[in-house]
Amino acid sequence: MSYFKATLLALLAFIISCASTTDPLTGKKVYTLLPTEEEIKLGREYIPQSIAQGEGLYPDGELQSYISRLGHKIAANTPRKLPYRFYLLNSSAYNAFAIPGGGVFITRGLLSLMENESELVGVLAHELGHLNARHHARYLEKVLGISLLLQVAALLVSDDDNLTGQLILQAAAVGAGLLTLKFSRDQERESDRLAVRFAVASGYDPKGLLSVFRKLKKAYREAPPEWLSTHPLPSSRIKEVSELISSMKLPQGLVRNTAAFERVKGRLKSKERAFSFYEEGKKLLKEGRREEALRKFRAAIAEYREFQMPYVFCAVILSDLGRLGEALSYADKAAELDPELFWTRFTKGVVLFKLSRFQESLRELEYAKRLVKGYADTYYYLGRDYEALGNYPKAKENFGLAIQLASGKEEWLQDAKRRYRAYGGR
Ligand SMILES: [Zn+2]
Repeated sequence: MSYFKATLLALLAFIISCASTTDPLTGKKVYTLLPTEEEIKLGREYIPQSIAQGEGLYPDGELQSYISRLGHKIAANTPRKLPYRFYLLNSSAYNAFAIPGGGVFITRGLLSLMENESELVGVLAHELGHLNARHHARYLEKVLGISLLLQVAALLVSDDDNLTGQLILQAAAVGAGLLTLKFSRDQERESDRLAVRFAVASGYDPKGLLSVFRKLKKAYREAPPEWLSTHPLPSSRIKEVSELISSMKLPQGLVRNTAAFERVKGRLKSKERAFSFYEEGKKLLKEGRREEALRKFRAAIAEYREFQMPYVFCAVILSDLGRLGEALSYADKAAELDPELFWTRFTKGVVLFKLSRFQESLRELEYAKRLVKGYADTYYYLGRDYEALGNYPKAKENFGLAIQLASGKEEWLQDAKRRYRAYGGR
């Protein structure tokens, strides 16, 4: 492409992307590199990755729809109209976060810490505060700049099968940035103020947010909650929210708790044993005690048949132990319970590869890749599948991506490099 044409395209791209949008909070026109349409497209792409990092969706439809109903009720009282979605994750970490475009996530751990609905409303309203103040969009604009943002947006609307390696790497980098994104203290303050406003507008006692802050502060003495690593919580923040609430003339009859919340708590509690077996299993596995870990994961399944993650771990351990037939039956079950979870499809793909069922493995891994683009291992096993099936250009491409996405600790890394070089890669 000639220099002139490239420049013209870049200019055109700039004009198109530099759309004006209405600031949802002030009603004023603002110029943005990331129009809401693009923000939504971009964010949608990272929903499966957020779910995968949170160890999957909590496997109870009633709890999911409760969180969703409550979230939408608050969102209806916020100025920014987005296709909001609310999810409860399996993770035991104390965490809640939002991603661009309207995805809001809360962990089982944080929900377990709560004692009434106004606390949950406080946290969801805080995350809606970040989205309404366009904090994510601003972060993306600042970090990525125009050209990269446009490329990533193009990537997300393009046909998944024709993605170039460069775009996959960029999408992975954006995902990594988004999911570890830290807001500034001013942005946290702004979201706190909005949370109070949204909670009151939705008919809830805004002191719920304060009470979560205090619980997190207390939990901090045992282990730093994840929410605090992405949402700094200095004492000044508690003081400011507290002063803001005292200065307000609150309407009568604000809701603190509901029967629906108590019911949710009861359902969570009834599965506590399953989750404690699951957590013990993960700990044992980290220590390399695979047989004991396997027993814990099986115990978790016995307590909660619909809980997908222990099946995944059983499949991983059995596959490591060379018991591939058993591994496959667990992987099958996991994928059947939760076909949209990256871990179930990825694990099934790896087990099928080990069983030399390359065509079926390929199908699972290509699906897993569509869910989460930045996971290095997927590309290594895809490379192995393509190689076994005689598609060497695809094998080379996937080994190359695996190497570029690798953290350096992967046990297959040297093997991937050797194979990549054998195909003339450097
Ligand atoms: Zn925050």
